[in-house]
Amino acid sequence: MLPEPELFARCPLPGCSRFTDVQGQPCDDCRKAFGEMIAHTPGGAPLTAADQAARDAETLAAYSGHTAIIAAAVDQTGDDADEGVTRSNQLCWLCDQRRRCTRVDGRWECRDCATVV
Ligand SMILES: [Zn+2]
Ligand SMILES: [Zn+2]
Repeated sequence: MLPEPELFARCPLPGCSRFTDVQGQPCDDCRKAFGEMIAHTPGGAPLTAADQAARDAETLAAYSGHTAIIAAAVDQTGDDADEGVTRSNQLCWLCDQRRRCTRVDGRWECRDCATVV
């Protein structure tokens, strides 16, 4: 399914998310930055909003797939590898002090805070 075209045209240059006056034409900033280099339009037809959205959807899907893979990898190594470890000079999430803290539920807790219920 294609994403809804947006209400306002966005600059068609990949990586630029600024609005543009005319659908399929680069925004003023990109024009200024790239000048002649972006004057060429293959086939003479500017991208339609739907084409542009479809193109970007592929890229975004690829990115989010990549992010999911990385997230899964991080899950496996486990952020909890530190769980129960005690280390000095950690920022306690409860009292905001740098102290000797123990890793509890993915956060550093100093001994004083750990004993307060
Ligand atoms: Zn732009
Ligand atoms: Zn503390």
